[in-house]
Amino acid sequence: MKQLPGETIRLLSSSQVITSVVSVVKELIENALDANSTSIDVKLDNYGFSKIEVRDNGSGIKVEDVPVMAIRHYTSKISSSEDLERLTTYGFRGEALGSICSISEVLVTTKTAADDNSTQYALNSNGHVTSKKPSHLGQGTTVTVLNLFKNLPVRKQFYSTSRKCKEELKKVQDLLTAYGIIKPDLRVTLIHNKAVIWQKTRVSDHKMACMSVLGTAVMGSMVPFQHCCEYPEINLSGFLPKAESDSSLTSISSSERSFIFINNRPVLQKEILKLIRQYYSMMTHKDCTRLYPVFFLNITVPASAVDVNVTPDKTQVLLHYKESVLLAVENVLKSLYGPLPATVPGENNETDVTSADMFVHRTEQTDVVGSEMGPSGNNELHARTSFLSLSSDVQNCQAVKNTEICLNHQTSCGDNVPSLLDKREVSKSDAFPDSSSNLLCEEEQNGQNMTDIQRSSVPLDPESKKANDEHLLGFDNTDQLDKNEGASVPKDLPEISADSWSMGSAFKDSLGDKLEPVKILIPEAGGRISKQKEYTPEQGNDPQISNQSVKKKNVISEKFGHVTAYDLINSKIIKKAKSAFEIFTHECRPKLINDNPKTSMADILLKIEEQWKNLSEEAKKNYELKAAKDLERYNRVVKKVSAQTVHRPTKEPGKQKPKLRGSAADQQKLDKIFHDQIEKKGKLEQPVKTVTVPFSLSSCRRHLQRQGKNVSGEQELFLIRRQSCPDVWIFATEKKLKLLNPYRLEEALLCKRLLMNHKLPVEKLDKPILLSDSLIGGSQYMAALYKMQKNYQSFHGSGYLSDPRLVANGFQIKVIEGVSATESHLEIEGMANCLPYYGISDLKEILSAVVDGNAKEVCECRPLKVVNYLEGEAVRLARQLPLHLSKEDVQNTIYRMKQQLGKENKGCVHGRPFFHHLTDIPEVDK
Ligand code: ADP
Ligand code: MG
Repeated sequence: MKQLPGETIRLLSSSQVITSVVSVVKELIENALDANSTSIDVKLDNYGFSKIEVRDNGSGIKVEDVPVMAIRHYTSKISSSEDLERLTTYGFRGEALGSICSISEVLVTTKTAADDNSTQYALNSNGHVTSKKPSHLGQGTTVTVLNLFKNLPVRKQFYSTSRKCKEELKKVQDLLTAYGIIKPDLRVTLIHNKAVIWQKTRVSDHKMACMSVLGTAVMGSMVPFQHCCEYPEINLSGFLPKAESDSSLTSISSSERSFIFINNRPVLQKEILKLIRQYYSMMTHKDCTRLYPVFFLNITVPASAVDVNVTPDKTQVLLHYKESVLLAVENVLKSLYGPLPATVPGENNETDVTSADMFVHRTEQTDVVGSEMGPSGNNELHARTSFLSLSSDVQNCQAVKNTEICLNHQTSCGDNVPSLLDKREVSKSDAFPDSSSNLLCEEEQNGQNMTDIQRSSVPLDPESKKANDEHLLGFDNTDQLDKNEGASVPKDLPEISADSWSMGSAFKDSLGDKLEPVKILIPEAGGRISKQKEYTPEQGNDPQISNQSVKKKNVISEKFGHVTAYDLINSKIIKKAKSAFEIFTHECRPKLINDNPKTSMADILLKIEEQWKNLSEEAKKNYELKAAKDLERYNRVVKKVSAQTVHRPTKEPGKQKPKLRGSAADQQKLDKIFHDQIEKKGKLEQPVKTVTVPFSLSSCRRHLQRQGKNVSGEQELFLIRRQSCPDVWIFATEKKLKLLNPYRLEEALLCKRLLMNHKLPVEKLDKPILLSDSLIGGSQYMAALYKMQKNYQSFHGSGYLSDPRLVANGFQIKVIEGVSATESHLEIEGMANCLPYYGISDLKEILSAVVDGNAKEVCECRPLKVVNYLEGEAVRLARQLPLHLSKEDVQNTIYRMKQQLGKENKGCVHGRPFFHHLTDIPEVDK
């Protein structure tokens, strides 16, 4: 028998911790979190096999710790086994870095607050530092792992298929999602091959974290819960699917959205998961073998009650009083969904580890808990109370949804909006006379269920790019849908820039043209849509199958071999000869535009035509003369240029490559290209895709008339939902049919809300700025400041100006009172730090609004910089809205529009309207 060499031992034991890319990322993330990081960037190249880089902004590694950081069993987190009893960190074994070193090349760049600069260290396979060099990175640590499994070919081979690699990437994303939820104030990004795949911003609490990860639609179907138990000490909190929630929203076919944490550690707890699935499937009356409910369960127990040291990756933990925890979870489930149907004792917990023996335990535990908290009935009641109190809280939160993401919690006028969570509540409220009757769901009987909605979304798996384009072009193609039956909701949604969707240009078709969400065809007298020639009776068998008249162009074949404007533009451009009318237009247009700044170009052109008609014969002749001269010029230049090109081949006989520069023929081509472009622009107005949606204006009108009877005064908006086009939001008023862009509306609402009450975070200045009349531009402004509300905090006679107009705009101004009034003075002690070059001139802007503009409200005296910043924030926040909104979301948005925007309706931040007029509803049937 021989002792294994050290190298081999290390290799063997490391492969227990480090079995995959995701385990490396997990260890590095946990190290970053243990170092109190609030921002983590994970970058992978080639699915992590070429490079894994985790950068954090944490405390960094002290110079004296560097030599041992990757030596096995060196850790800064515990010093004895007793420390495990009060463990608060993710790591404690001092193994991860060492293990990673033994199977890859590792670089660690780090800087603590005390260090002047960061340093990059290279480590060898034993974890020893082999070299160091200065680096430019800021505080925190960056660990770079290169060539993972370089010496473990078998492991590497395991990941040789692209499917395995993609699965691995998905696992990394799921892992980051878990940490993102449990650490709301953590900012995380995941970048693969330089493309951002997933990210999460900082949010205020778990509720918001879930919202940003699961989306508002799913969170709308969730209920928060809290359950406390004193002995043994167990705290449960989180979100579970509401009773009667729609299982297409609250469950998926894998457990990746079933989040269980024990003391903030994401864990696999099969028994808990099973318990929750049992209750969930009972509630939904669905088979639980396929579905996993979406939930977030955070279990907090004393550190001494868990043993994390069970598996190398710490995803399995040993709970010392697991049965009590299971019982507590079950109590929560029971009070939410009701008890499981009565079964033969021992049978309801049959199938897995949760064996009969545990069942007995549980019964015992009931007694324990019972004696602590009163009769077991009360026990349930207790849990239920927690639901209700918290659920109203989340409902409020839900009602104001993303608006609440604005970092600080300020009360707002949106807070008492009726909840979205409870359909019954909504239908009872005045806001939505009756949500169901408000819907003209003509298609509901067609049997197309909700899952279709999700299928018609935009899939983004790069592999399905083609299918994707087809989806975009014709998501009503039922065959297509059937083929995709298995595909669930797309996971990686596209990066859509805020501006692009707000401007309505987020989606492009394969030709790069803007994709209109929908175009309603207005029926002609005959009732048949004339353009729909292809709509044959065979196709028409099923009114659901809307046909598409998409002419697919092959972009490549069309463009191949063609001269583009770019080929020609850098040759000398010869201005085309102008006609007499063109010269006239050229001359008089600037003045007309100047005089009628609001008139559209088309109207200006009409005016010019009119003027041209009224022009005297003599004047017209004059222009024709000019035109003739221009034509002469054109011919002259063209001749000259073509003479040059004729010469060229004689100079360079070797070069047969056709030169495009400067030839007269080019000029014609160029003219043609521009001409075509103008034509194409005109064509853009036409819908790229035509979808026939069965729709009857007269039945719509009749429905509205019926509704109209119990509606008084104010114009009511009725949502028309079509299950085949779930992302199309059509509203009918008494006379009109309009299309809503809910994102624009949400953006405007967010913007308004931010302008009204968002408080810019303040940072203390290194040196306070003493305010004076001269600095601020007048004694009247100083006087206004002195008049503002003060808030005295200390006994030293100094306080702060607490006027919201200053505070919300990020000015912390201290009042230093002297012996007499004349001796007191003001100084800016802190200022908003989120805006570059923010300062005195912005304070002046506020004061000028207050003094000269008599601004009373915060929103009336926002400096321009702040307005711009908040508008940007609104766009950014609105962008985080899910791609698919629920009916309730949109109705709530409309409700808030009426409440908060009233008559004022300036469109979104970019000034684009919320509604697009589709057609008038005829008074009588045609
Ligand atoms: P453990 O986390 O179990 O202590 P590791 O091998 O993961 O062991 O890390 C070893 C030590 O290196 C840690 O105890 C910690 O002091 C230091 N360290 C590792 N990564 C970081 C980081 N991102 N920020 C600060 N310190 C770190
Ligand atoms: Mg660690």
